[in-house]
Amino acid sequence: MVERAIQQNAFYMVYQPQVECKGRKIVGFESLLRIRNEACSPDQFIPVAEQYGYITKLGKIAVEQVVRQLARWKDEGRTLCPISINFSSYQIYDDDFVDFLLYQMERHGIPHEYVVLEITESILFEESKQTKAVFKRLVEEGIELHLDDFGTGYSSFAYLPYIPLNTVKMDKSIVDNFLSSNGDVVRNLISIVHDLGMVVIVEGVEEEWQYEKLVEYGCDRIQGYLFGGPVLATEIS
Ligand code: C2E
Ligand code: CA
Ligand code: CA
Repeated sequence: MVERAIQQNAFYMVYQPQVECKGRKIVGFESLLRIRNEACSPDQFIPVAEQYGYITKLGKIAVEQVVRQLARWKDEGRTLCPISINFSSYQIYDDDFVDFLLYQMERHGIPHEYVVLEITESILFEESKQTKAVFKRLVEEGIELHLDDFGTGYSSFAYLPYIPLNTVKMDKSIVDNFLSSNGDVVRNLISIVHDLGMVVIVEGVEEEWQYEKLVEYGCDRIQGYLFGGPVLATEIS
């Protein structure tokens, strides 16, 4: 299915808003890949693409789609918001990813601040020269790195000061497991991330009471069905 979708240009993006807590204003979007006419979610096809060597191609398709969307909004005279792109750990072996990304942005006249990369901690386990070089270059080019899915996996704080991250995205499981019964866990996690000089986005917020608690705990941004699920770019006003 992944192979066919590549051949038939069947991948497209949906965009989910990221909302600033205080003003409830949209300050960014996360891009999420979909396959046209297939009832198959990225949780299913991304691991397959990673395992069978298609993720390099999918990573570039994601970049093309997102930069083209930014260019379209720019041409329409709209105020741009940064769009986050998911960067799979396997893409670290794609030697020309950074060149490709920079080339696409330059070609469409998109300033680097409008593209963000979401990485997961698994990329950091392997403290290779290549990983460090890739991150260093991205940050020097003004591209923000956000740590995705914090709260799943090991969630170690040890490496947080050593990589140039701006933002930590807390996984939905943190909200689900702690917010109602043990809110101090969430409050303290937010406070540690702030002490490290980073911004907190909490994911998977579906209800108003969760939003209110998170605001009280100092959360910066929220991404969740409460403020909108992923939609086509044409549905964003
Ligand atoms: P993710 O990066 O953690 O993306 C957030 C997922 O949570 C999305 O699922 C989103 O639709 C869902 N979500 C957001 N708010 C809520 C909420 O309030 N409640 C619930 N129940 N879910 C919410 P989606 O689009 O199915 O994507 C699943 C995963 O697939 C992503 O998790 C990401 O790891 C991967 N993925 C998606 N697009 C791409 C891509 O372009 N490249 C790569 N490498 N991975 C991608
Ligand atoms: Ca993500
Ligand atoms: Ca996530």
